[in-house]
Amino acid sequence: MNSICTLDIESILNEATALLEKYIQIDTVNPPGEVDEAISFFQTIFINENIEYKIYDCPSGKKAIAGILRGKSEKSLLLLNHMDVVPVEKDKWDFEAFSGKLRNGYIEGRGTLDMKGLGIAQLMALLFCKRQAIKPQKTIIFLAVPDEEIGGKEGTQYIVNNYWNDLKPEGVLDEGGFGTKDINKKFPVFFVACGQKKGIWLQIKAHGKAGHAAQPTDDNPNDILIKALHKIITHPECPTDDPILWNTICEVAKLKNRIYYLITKLYRVRVMRLAIGKFLHKIKFFNAIIRNTETISMIKAGEKVNVIPEEAEAFVDCRVLPQVDYFDVIKRLQKLVNDKRIVFNVVKEMRQSDISDSNTQLFRIIDKNIRKKYHNAKVLPFITPVGTDAKYFREKGICSYGIYPIIVSQDDLESFHGNNERVSINEYRKCCEILIHIVQEYCF
Ligand SMILES: [Zn+2]
Repeated sequence: MNSICTLDIESILNEATALLEKYIQIDTVNPPGEVDEAISFFQTIFINENIEYKIYDCPSGKKAIAGILRGKSEKSLLLLNHMDVVPVEKDKWDFEAFSGKLRNGYIEGRGTLDMKGLGIAQLMALLFCKRQAIKPQKTIIFLAVPDEEIGGKEGTQYIVNNYWNDLKPEGVLDEGGFGTKDINKKFPVFFVACGQKKGIWLQIKAHGKAGHAAQPTDDNPNDILIKALHKIITHPECPTDDPILWNTICEVAKLKNRIYYLITKLYRVRVMRLAIGKFLHKIKFFNAIIRNTETISMIKAGEKVNVIPEEAEAFVDCRVLPQVDYFDVIKRLQKLVNDKRIVFNVVKEMRQSDISDSNTQLFRIIDKNIRKKYHNAKVLPFITPVGTDAKYFREKGICSYGIYPIIVSQDDLESFHGNNERVSINEYRKCCEILIHIVQEYCF
Protein backbone atom coordinates (compact mmCIF):
# COMPACT_ATOMS: atom_id res chain seq x y z
CA MET A 1 0.00 0.00 0.00
CA ASN A 2 1.33 3.44 -0.92
CA SER A 3 1.28 6.15 1.70
CA ILE A 4 -1.80 8.28 1.39
CA CYS A 5 -2.82 11.46 3.10
CA THR A 6 -5.32 11.08 5.87
CA LEU A 7 -8.38 13.19 5.29
CA ASP A 8 -10.46 14.41 8.19
CA ILE A 9 -12.20 11.18 9.19
CA GLU A 10 -14.53 13.00 11.58
CA SER A 11 -16.05 15.13 8.82
CA ILE A 12 -16.36 12.04 6.58
CA LEU A 13 -18.34 10.24 9.28
CA ASN A 14 -20.65 13.24 9.76
CA GLU A 15 -21.14 13.36 6.02
CA ALA A 16 -22.04 9.65 6.00
CA THR A 17 -24.76 10.17 8.61
CA ALA A 18 -26.23 13.12 6.72
CA LEU A 19 -26.23 11.21 3.42
CA LEU A 20 -27.80 8.15 5.02
CA GLU A 21 -30.62 10.30 6.42
CA LYS A 22 -31.40 11.61 2.93
CA TYR A 23 -31.12 8.16 1.35
CA ILE A 24 -33.51 6.56 3.89
CA GLN A 25 -36.07 9.25 3.01
CA ILE A 26 -36.12 8.16 -0.63
CA ASP A 27 -38.96 5.66 -1.12
CA THR A 28 -37.56 2.55 -2.80
CA VAL A 29 -39.97 0.03 -1.26
CA ASN A 30 -40.18 -3.11 -3.36
CA PRO A 31 -42.79 -3.73 -4.71
CA PRO A 32 -42.79 -1.62 -6.78
CA GLY A 33 -39.11 -0.82 -6.04
CA GLU A 34 -38.84 2.39 -8.06
CA VAL A 35 -35.29 3.72 -7.86
CA ASP A 36 -35.22 6.79 -10.15
CA GLU A 37 -34.86 9.17 -7.21
CA ALA A 38 -32.09 7.06 -5.68
CA ILE A 39 -30.29 7.05 -9.03
CA SER A 40 -30.48 10.89 -9.17
CA PHE A 41 -29.23 11.02 -5.58
CA PHE A 42 -26.06 9.08 -6.48
CA GLN A 43 -25.69 10.78 -9.86
CA THR A 44 -25.65 14.24 -8.22
CA ILE A 45 -22.98 13.09 -5.78
CA PHE A 46 -20.83 11.65 -8.59
CA ILE A 47 -21.16 14.85 -10.64
CA ASN A 48 -20.25 17.05 -7.65
CA GLU A 49 -17.29 14.86 -6.77
CA ASN A 50 -16.16 14.59 -10.39
CA ILE A 51 -16.47 10.80 -10.28
CA GLU A 52 -16.90 8.84 -13.52
CA TYR A 53 -20.27 7.07 -13.55
CA LYS A 54 -22.47 4.91 -15.73
CA ILE A 55 -26.21 4.30 -15.56
CA TYR A 56 -27.53 0.90 -16.67
CA ASP A 57 -31.06 0.36 -17.99
CA CYS A 58 -32.48 -2.90 -16.73
CA PRO A 59 -35.24 -4.80 -18.57
CA SER A 60 -37.78 -3.91 -15.87
CA GLY A 61 -37.36 -0.22 -16.77
CA LYS A 62 -35.44 0.32 -13.54
CA LYS A 63 -31.86 1.51 -13.44
CA ALA A 64 -28.58 0.70 -11.75
CA ILE A 65 -25.67 3.11 -11.29
CA ALA A 66 -21.94 2.58 -11.05
CA GLY A 67 -19.45 5.12 -9.70
CA ILE A 68 -15.95 4.34 -10.89
CA LEU A 69 -12.55 5.39 -9.61
CA ARG A 70 -9.97 4.15 -12.11
CA GLY A 71 -6.80 2.67 -10.69
CA LYS A 72 -3.40 2.14 -12.26
CA SER A 73 -4.29 -1.46 -13.06
CA GLU A 74 -7.33 -3.14 -14.59
CA LYS A 75 -7.93 -5.12 -11.40
CA SER A 76 -10.94 -3.91 -9.51
CA LEU A 77 -12.82 -4.15 -6.26
CA LEU A 78 -16.61 -4.00 -6.55
CA LEU A 79 -18.69 -2.48 -3.77
CA LEU A 80 -22.11 -4.01 -4.38
CA ASN A 81 -25.30 -2.69 -2.77
CA HIS A 82 -29.01 -2.72 -3.45
CA MET A 83 -31.23 0.35 -3.43
CA ASP A 84 -34.56 -1.36 -2.85
CA VAL A 85 -36.00 -2.11 0.59
CA VAL A 86 -38.83 -4.35 1.77
CA PRO A 87 -42.25 -2.90 2.69
CA VAL A 88 -43.13 -1.71 6.20
CA GLU A 89 -46.22 -2.14 8.35
CA LYS A 90 -46.21 1.46 9.50
CA ASP A 91 -48.66 0.99 12.37
CA LYS A 92 -46.39 -1.63 13.96
CA TRP A 93 -43.37 0.71 14.10
CA ASP A 94 -42.53 2.78 17.16
CA PHE A 95 -41.07 5.53 14.98
CA GLU A 96 -41.33 7.00 11.51
CA ALA A 97 -40.09 4.30 9.11
CA PHE A 98 -38.59 6.64 6.51
CA SER A 99 -37.11 9.48 8.58
CA GLY A 100 -33.44 8.48 8.65
CA LYS A 101 -33.25 10.68 11.75
CA LEU A 102 -30.75 10.27 14.54
CA ARG A 103 -32.60 9.71 17.83
CA ASN A 104 -31.50 8.14 21.12
CA GLY A 105 -28.20 7.03 19.63
CA TYR A 106 -29.74 5.31 16.61
CA ILE A 107 -30.29 6.21 12.97
CA GLU A 108 -33.85 5.09 12.38
CA GLY A 109 -35.59 3.78 9.32
CA ARG A 110 -36.13 1.05 6.77
CA GLY A 111 -32.83 0.25 5.05
CA THR A 112 -30.49 1.29 7.87
CA LEU A 113 -29.58 -2.41 8.21
CA ASP A 114 -30.70 -3.81 4.85
CA MET A 115 -28.90 -2.28 3.12
CA LYS A 116 -28.88 1.46 2.57
CA GLY A 117 -26.63 1.88 5.60
CA LEU A 118 -23.94 -0.33 4.14
CA GLY A 119 -24.51 1.25 0.70
CA ILE A 120 -23.67 4.71 2.09
CA ALA A 121 -20.64 3.30 3.95
CA GLN A 122 -19.44 1.88 0.61
CA LEU A 123 -20.08 5.26 -1.02
CA MET A 124 -17.99 6.98 1.67
CA ALA A 125 -15.13 4.56 0.95
CA LEU A 126 -15.31 5.54 -2.73
CA LEU A 127 -15.44 9.28 -1.92
CA PHE A 128 -12.60 8.96 0.57
CA CYS A 129 -10.40 7.25 -2.02
CA LYS A 130 -11.37 9.76 -4.71
CA ARG A 131 -10.36 12.67 -2.48
CA GLN A 132 -6.84 11.29 -2.07
CA ALA A 133 -4.18 13.09 -4.02
CA ILE A 134 -2.95 9.87 -5.60
CA LYS A 135 -4.46 7.34 -7.93
CA PRO A 136 -5.23 3.90 -6.46
CA GLN A 137 -3.47 0.79 -7.75
CA LYS A 138 -6.78 -0.99 -8.27
CA THR A 139 -9.99 0.34 -9.75
CA ILE A 140 -12.84 0.85 -7.28
CA ILE A 141 -16.40 0.37 -8.53
CA PHE A 142 -19.44 1.28 -6.47
CA LEU A 143 -22.53 -0.42 -7.92
CA ALA A 144 -26.05 0.33 -6.65
CA VAL A 145 -28.66 -2.05 -8.07
CA PRO A 146 -32.46 -2.39 -8.08
CA ASP A 147 -34.59 -5.46 -7.34
CA GLU A 148 -32.31 -7.44 -5.03
CA GLU A 149 -35.26 -7.98 -2.72
CA ILE A 150 -37.06 -9.87 -5.49
CA GLY A 151 -34.10 -12.05 -6.46
CA GLY A 152 -31.89 -9.75 -8.54
CA LYS A 153 -32.70 -11.36 -11.90
CA GLU A 154 -33.44 -8.03 -13.55
CA GLY A 155 -30.85 -6.19 -11.49
CA THR A 156 -27.46 -7.65 -10.68
CA GLN A 157 -27.88 -10.79 -12.79
CA TYR A 158 -28.78 -8.71 -15.85
CA ILE A 159 -25.78 -6.41 -15.39
CA VAL A 160 -23.42 -9.35 -14.81
CA ASN A 161 -24.71 -11.08 -17.96
CA ASN A 162 -24.69 -8.01 -20.19
CA TYR A 163 -21.98 -5.68 -18.91
CA TRP A 164 -19.37 -8.05 -17.53
CA ASN A 165 -16.54 -6.18 -19.25
CA ASP A 166 -17.42 -3.03 -17.30
CA LEU A 167 -16.98 -4.85 -14.00
CA LYS A 168 -14.71 -7.94 -14.14
CA PRO A 169 -13.98 -7.52 -10.42
CA GLU A 170 -11.16 -9.29 -8.67
CA GLY A 171 -13.18 -9.16 -5.44
CA VAL A 172 -16.68 -8.14 -4.33
CA LEU A 173 -17.87 -6.70 -1.02
CA ASP A 174 -21.58 -7.11 -0.34
CA GLU A 175 -24.04 -7.67 2.52
CA GLY A 176 -24.77 -10.92 4.40
CA GLY A 177 -22.49 -10.92 7.47
CA PHE A 178 -22.37 -8.93 10.71
CA GLY A 179 -20.92 -8.91 14.21
CA THR A 180 -22.41 -10.15 17.48
CA LYS A 181 -21.60 -9.96 21.17
CA ASP A 182 -24.24 -12.54 22.08
CA ILE A 183 -21.70 -15.38 22.13
CA ASN A 184 -19.14 -13.72 24.37
CA LYS A 185 -19.40 -10.15 25.66
CA LYS A 186 -15.63 -9.65 25.68
CA PHE A 187 -14.89 -11.20 22.31
CA PRO A 188 -17.25 -10.03 19.58
CA VAL A 189 -17.56 -12.39 16.62
CA PHE A 190 -17.91 -11.09 13.08
CA PHE A 191 -19.33 -13.52 10.56
CA VAL A 192 -18.24 -12.85 6.98
CA ALA A 193 -20.49 -14.48 4.38
CA CYS A 194 -18.39 -16.52 1.96
CA GLY A 195 -21.34 -18.38 0.47
CA GLN A 196 -25.07 -18.73 0.80
CA LYS A 197 -27.66 -21.41 0.97
CA LYS A 198 -29.80 -22.22 -2.02
CA GLY A 199 -33.57 -21.96 -1.77
CA ILE A 200 -36.05 -24.52 -3.08
CA TRP A 201 -39.76 -23.99 -2.69
CA LEU A 202 -41.82 -27.16 -2.56
CA GLN A 203 -45.52 -27.78 -2.84
CA ILE A 204 -46.63 -30.82 -0.87
CA LYS A 205 -50.01 -31.99 -2.05
CA ALA A 206 -52.21 -34.57 -0.33
CA HIS A 207 -54.89 -36.35 -2.34
CA GLY A 208 -57.89 -37.80 -0.53
CA LYS A 209 -61.62 -38.30 -0.90
CA ALA A 210 -64.17 -35.50 -0.61
CA GLY A 211 -67.23 -36.02 1.54
CA HIS A 212 -69.43 -34.88 4.41
CA ALA A 213 -67.48 -33.89 7.51
CA ALA A 214 -70.10 -35.62 9.69
CA GLN A 215 -68.50 -38.95 8.73
CA PRO A 216 -64.75 -38.96 9.30
CA THR A 217 -62.63 -41.18 7.03
CA ASP A 218 -58.97 -42.16 6.72
CA ASP A 219 -58.91 -40.52 3.27
CA ASN A 220 -59.26 -36.97 4.57
CA PRO A 221 -56.48 -35.06 2.72
CA ASN A 222 -56.14 -32.67 5.66
CA ASP A 223 -55.25 -35.55 7.99
CA ILE A 224 -52.89 -37.03 5.40
CA LEU A 225 -51.13 -33.69 4.98
CA ILE A 226 -50.90 -32.98 8.71
CA LYS A 227 -49.32 -36.39 9.37
CA ALA A 228 -46.78 -35.79 6.59
CA LEU A 229 -45.92 -32.31 7.85
CA HIS A 230 -45.59 -33.60 11.38
CA LYS A 231 -42.94 -36.07 10.22
CA ILE A 232 -41.06 -33.26 8.46
CA ILE A 233 -41.15 -30.96 11.50
CA THR A 234 -40.06 -33.63 13.94
CA HIS A 235 -37.21 -35.01 11.82
CA PRO A 236 -34.81 -32.17 10.97
CA GLU A 237 -31.87 -33.18 8.83
CA CYS A 238 -28.58 -34.15 10.49
CA PRO A 239 -26.11 -31.21 10.49
CA THR A 240 -23.54 -31.18 7.69
CA ASP A 241 -20.02 -32.48 8.32
CA ASP A 242 -18.44 -29.73 6.22
CA PRO A 243 -15.04 -28.98 7.87
CA ILE A 244 -15.05 -25.26 6.97
CA LEU A 245 -18.37 -24.76 8.71
CA TRP A 246 -17.27 -26.78 11.73
CA ASN A 247 -14.09 -24.80 12.02
CA THR A 248 -16.28 -21.71 12.50
CA ILE A 249 -18.56 -23.51 14.98
CA CYS A 250 -15.53 -24.76 16.97
CA GLU A 251 -14.10 -21.22 17.14
CA VAL A 252 -17.44 -19.95 18.42
CA ALA A 253 -17.66 -22.79 20.96
CA LYS A 254 -14.15 -21.93 22.18
CA LEU A 255 -15.47 -18.48 23.12
CA LYS A 256 -18.19 -20.09 25.23
CA ASN A 257 -16.18 -22.62 27.20
CA ARG A 258 -13.69 -25.45 26.86
CA ILE A 259 -16.26 -28.23 27.21
CA TYR A 260 -18.34 -26.89 24.32
CA TYR A 261 -15.15 -26.64 22.30
CA LEU A 262 -14.10 -30.24 22.97
CA ILE A 263 -17.59 -31.50 22.13
CA THR A 264 -17.78 -29.60 18.83
CA LYS A 265 -14.33 -30.94 17.90
CA LEU A 266 -15.99 -34.38 17.68
CA TYR A 267 -18.24 -33.24 14.84
CA ARG A 268 -17.03 -35.97 12.48
CA VAL A 269 -19.02 -38.50 14.52
CA ARG A 270 -22.61 -38.46 13.30
CA VAL A 271 -24.12 -39.05 16.75
CA MET A 272 -22.23 -36.02 18.04
CA ARG A 273 -23.47 -33.89 15.14
CA LEU A 274 -27.02 -34.98 15.89
CA ALA A 275 -26.60 -34.11 19.56
CA ILE A 276 -25.03 -30.71 18.80
CA GLY A 277 -27.74 -30.13 16.20
CA LYS A 278 -30.40 -30.82 18.81
CA PHE A 279 -28.77 -28.35 21.17
CA LEU A 280 -28.37 -25.66 18.49
CA HIS A 281 -31.92 -26.18 17.23
CA LYS A 282 -33.16 -23.52 19.65
CA ILE A 283 -30.74 -20.87 18.38
CA LYS A 284 -32.23 -19.93 15.05
CA PHE A 285 -29.07 -18.46 13.52
CA PHE A 286 -26.92 -21.53 14.20
CA ASN A 287 -29.69 -23.95 13.36
CA ALA A 288 -29.97 -22.29 9.94
CA ILE A 289 -26.26 -22.41 9.13
CA ILE A 290 -25.43 -25.99 10.17
CA ARG A 291 -27.98 -27.94 8.14
CA ASN A 292 -30.52 -27.96 5.34
CA THR A 293 -33.78 -26.63 6.72
CA GLU A 294 -37.44 -27.02 5.78
CA THR A 295 -39.95 -24.37 6.85
CA ILE A 296 -43.67 -24.86 6.31
CA SER A 297 -44.78 -21.39 5.29
CA MET A 298 -48.24 -21.84 3.73
CA ILE A 299 -51.06 -24.34 4.22
CA LYS A 300 -54.20 -24.33 2.09
CA ALA A 301 -57.19 -26.65 2.30
CA GLY A 302 -60.96 -26.72 2.40
CA GLU A 303 -63.73 -24.22 1.71
CA LYS A 304 -66.39 -25.07 4.29
CA VAL A 305 -66.46 -26.41 7.85
CA ASN A 306 -68.74 -29.38 7.10
CA VAL A 307 -67.02 -30.46 3.86
CA ILE A 308 -63.96 -32.71 3.55
CA PRO A 309 -62.01 -31.40 0.56
CA GLU A 310 -60.48 -33.55 -2.19
CA GLU A 311 -57.01 -32.04 -1.79
CA ALA A 312 -54.87 -30.22 0.73
CA GLU A 313 -51.54 -28.52 0.10
CA ALA A 314 -48.66 -26.99 1.97
CA PHE A 315 -45.72 -24.97 0.77
CA VAL A 316 -42.30 -25.54 2.21
CA ASP A 317 -39.32 -23.21 1.94
CA CYS A 318 -36.22 -25.44 1.91
CA ARG A 319 -32.80 -23.82 2.36
CA VAL A 320 -30.02 -26.08 1.22
CA LEU A 321 -26.31 -25.76 1.91
CA PRO A 322 -24.07 -25.12 -1.11
CA GLN A 323 -23.01 -28.26 -2.95
CA VAL A 324 -26.02 -30.26 -1.74
CA ASP A 325 -28.14 -31.65 -4.57
CA TYR A 326 -31.73 -30.62 -4.05
CA PHE A 327 -32.93 -34.00 -5.37
CA ASP A 328 -31.36 -35.55 -2.27
CA VAL A 329 -33.37 -33.19 -0.08
CA ILE A 330 -36.64 -34.13 -1.81
CA LYS A 331 -35.74 -37.84 -1.74
CA ARG A 332 -35.18 -37.64 2.03
CA LEU A 333 -38.54 -35.95 2.57
CA GLN A 334 -40.35 -38.48 0.35
CA LYS A 335 -38.79 -41.36 2.24
CA LEU A 336 -39.65 -39.75 5.55
CA VAL A 337 -43.29 -39.11 4.60
CA ASN A 338 -43.61 -42.52 2.91
CA ASP A 339 -47.16 -42.03 1.67
CA LYS A 340 -48.21 -42.50 -1.97
CA ARG A 341 -51.09 -40.07 -1.52
CA ILE A 342 -48.57 -37.24 -1.07
CA VAL A 343 -46.97 -35.60 -4.12
CA PHE A 344 -43.95 -33.28 -4.02
CA ASN A 345 -43.65 -30.54 -6.66
CA VAL A 346 -40.80 -28.07 -7.05
CA VAL A 347 -42.37 -24.61 -7.32
CA LYS A 348 -39.16 -22.61 -7.51
CA GLU A 349 -35.52 -23.47 -7.46
CA MET A 350 -33.03 -20.72 -6.73
CA ARG A 351 -29.53 -20.77 -8.06
CA GLN A 352 -26.69 -22.84 -6.78
CA SER A 353 -23.99 -20.66 -5.32
CA ASP A 354 -20.30 -21.40 -4.91
CA ILE A 355 -18.24 -20.68 -1.82
CA SER A 356 -15.47 -18.06 -1.79
CA ASP A 357 -12.20 -19.14 -0.25
CA SER A 358 -11.43 -17.28 2.98
CA ASN A 359 -7.70 -17.77 2.53
CA THR A 360 -7.23 -14.60 0.45
CA GLN A 361 -5.61 -11.21 0.78
CA LEU A 362 -9.02 -9.49 0.77
CA PHE A 363 -10.30 -11.65 3.63
CA ARG A 364 -7.14 -11.00 5.64
CA ILE A 365 -7.56 -7.24 5.10
CA ILE A 366 -11.19 -7.45 6.28
CA ASP A 367 -10.08 -9.44 9.32
CA LYS A 368 -7.27 -7.05 10.19
CA ASN A 369 -9.34 -3.88 9.89
CA ILE A 370 -12.26 -5.23 11.90
CA ARG A 371 -9.84 -6.24 14.66
CA LYS A 372 -8.24 -2.80 14.57
CA LYS A 373 -11.57 -1.28 15.65
CA TYR A 374 -12.77 -4.18 17.78
CA HIS A 375 -9.77 -5.53 19.68
CA ASN A 376 -10.30 -9.17 20.72
CA ALA A 377 -12.76 -9.71 17.88
CA LYS A 378 -12.89 -12.99 15.99
CA VAL A 379 -13.58 -12.76 12.27
CA LEU A 380 -14.95 -16.00 10.88
CA PRO A 381 -16.20 -17.18 7.48
CA PHE A 382 -19.74 -18.57 7.31
CA ILE A 383 -22.50 -19.56 4.92
CA THR A 384 -25.42 -17.17 5.16
CA PRO A 385 -28.89 -18.74 5.20
CA VAL A 386 -30.35 -15.81 3.23
CA GLY A 387 -29.95 -15.02 -0.47
CA THR A 388 -27.88 -12.04 -1.65
CA ASP A 389 -26.78 -10.80 -5.07
CA ALA A 390 -23.20 -11.93 -4.35
CA LYS A 391 -24.27 -15.31 -5.76
CA TYR A 392 -24.09 -13.90 -9.30
CA PHE A 393 -20.40 -13.14 -8.77
CA ARG A 394 -19.54 -16.30 -6.85
CA GLU A 395 -20.90 -18.44 -9.65
CA LYS A 396 -18.42 -16.72 -11.97
CA GLY A 397 -15.64 -17.69 -9.58
CA ILE A 398 -15.22 -14.17 -8.17
CA CYS A 399 -14.28 -14.00 -4.54
CA SER A 400 -17.23 -12.30 -2.83
CA TYR A 401 -17.60 -11.50 0.85
CA GLY A 402 -20.70 -10.27 2.66
CA ILE A 403 -20.02 -8.14 5.69
CA TYR A 404 -21.76 -5.17 7.35
CA PRO A 405 -19.13 -4.58 10.04
CA ILE A 406 -21.40 -3.57 12.91
CA ILE A 407 -22.36 -5.40 16.07
CA VAL A 408 -26.04 -6.26 16.05
CA SER A 409 -28.25 -7.39 18.91
CA GLN A 410 -30.99 -10.02 18.72
CA ASP A 411 -33.55 -7.19 18.41
CA ASP A 412 -31.60 -5.69 15.51
CA LEU A 413 -31.62 -9.06 13.77
CA GLU A 414 -35.39 -9.32 14.18
CA SER A 415 -35.78 -5.91 12.52
CA PHE A 416 -34.16 -7.08 9.25
CA HIS A 417 -37.28 -7.22 7.06
CA GLY A 418 -39.24 -6.68 10.32
CA ASN A 419 -40.31 -3.66 12.36
CA ASN A 420 -38.31 -0.83 13.96
CA GLU A 421 -35.21 -1.18 11.79
CA ARG A 422 -32.40 1.05 13.03
CA VAL A 423 -28.64 1.16 13.40
CA SER A 424 -26.62 2.37 16.37
CA ILE A 425 -24.74 5.54 15.43
CA ASN A 426 -21.61 4.38 17.26
CA GLU A 427 -21.61 1.09 15.36
CA TYR A 428 -22.34 2.85 12.09
CA ARG A 429 -19.45 5.26 12.42
CA LYS A 430 -17.09 2.37 13.16
CA CYS A 431 -18.47 0.51 10.16
CA CYS A 432 -17.75 3.45 7.83
CA GLU A 433 -14.22 3.70 9.14
CA ILE A 434 -13.60 -0.04 8.81
CA LEU A 435 -14.92 -0.09 5.27
CA ILE A 436 -12.87 2.94 4.25
CA HIS A 437 -9.74 1.27 5.60
CA ILE A 438 -10.49 -2.07 3.94
CA VAL A 439 -10.97 -0.45 0.53
CA GLN A 440 -7.98 1.83 1.01
CA GLU A 441 -5.65 -0.99 2.05
CA TYR A 442 -6.81 -3.34 -0.71
CA CYS A 443 -6.78 -0.81 -3.54
CA PHE A 444 -3.87 1.56 -2.82
ZN1 LIG B 1 -30.29 -6.91 1.60
